Amino acid sequence: MIRTIAIICAAVVLIGFSAAAQTVPYVLSPWQCGVIVWPNEVPDYADHFAQRLTEAAEAAFGFWGYPLPTTADKPYNESNCVLIFDPATQAEYVVPPLKWNGSEVLPVVVLAFSSEAAMRAAMGSTALHGAFWFSGPMNRLSFPQAQPWVWDVGGGYRNMVCASSASNATLIHEWAHWFTYQWGYSEAIAPHDLPDYIIEGIAEATCAFVEDPNDAVYGRLQAYSWGLNKCLEGSIQGVMQYPVGESLVSHLVETLGTDGFLGTLSDWSTQAWFMVDCYQPEWRISLGLPASCPE
Ligand SMILES: [Zn+2]
Repeated sequence: MIRTIAIICAAVVLIGFSAAAQTVPYVLSPWQCGVIVWPNEVPDYADHFAQRLTEAAEAAFGFWGYPLPTTADKPYNESNCVLIFDPATQAEYVVPPLKWNGSEVLPVVVLAFSSEAAMRAAMGSTALHGAFWFSGPMNRLSFPQAQPWVWDVGGGYRNMVCASSASNATLIHEWAHWFTYQWGYSEAIAPHDLPDYIIEGIAEATCAFVEDPNDAVYGRLQAYSWGLNKCLEGSIQGVMQYPVGESLVSHLVETLGTDGFLGTLSDWSTQAWFMVDCYQPEWRISLGLPASCPE
């Protein structure tokens, strides 16, 4: 009898271990422009965070005068929709294509982590903070140490990777990257050819309205200090591309308007040197710097 009980106990323990080994690695829930992937389980703040994601995306697109992409009412296939295995139903979860500005748009797979530490552990990167936008499909070269399930759900798709602690400014910044790339594609502009200070400048200028006023003053001072000794060139290495880019893009939006500035992106992608010659003196004057570059 005792032996029988021992065998039953062992069987229960084994079943327990096997269930633990098959712990669901993620849960999917619908989102306005795609799907949200919650690692492990749906958190109690899920609805609130999904709402924050939507409002941040609306703010990013809205800054430039555009609505968010909406679901396209058309047939879908593997090339224009998102197909993810859903552990809850043991079936494929389908997100149909989106439409925006007259063209078809791929939905976004949002990986929403509970914390930055959880995000860094899953992505295998110590350099991630707040949120990260993948302008192209996620590939193993950028995050070779990411956990296998990350590739299962995100590989090949357009992704937003974020922690629930990300500020509204951070979320708007990342969605502004989505807007930049989407707008570029729709206008036959290669967004990767834009100078880094234009790409980050657009993102920073877009989220500036939720910025702490002290940070705004500090950013302007950083741009001013940078301009005392330097001039715009092909690219700006390191963190100064953020405040300098924000200062330049904000100046151009103020003088050209949002549509006028977007209209210059084609030239920024193909002849940045010419654009720098055109706009640098005025921008330097707006910062209180001499129009001409330092020797
Ligand atoms: Zn950025």
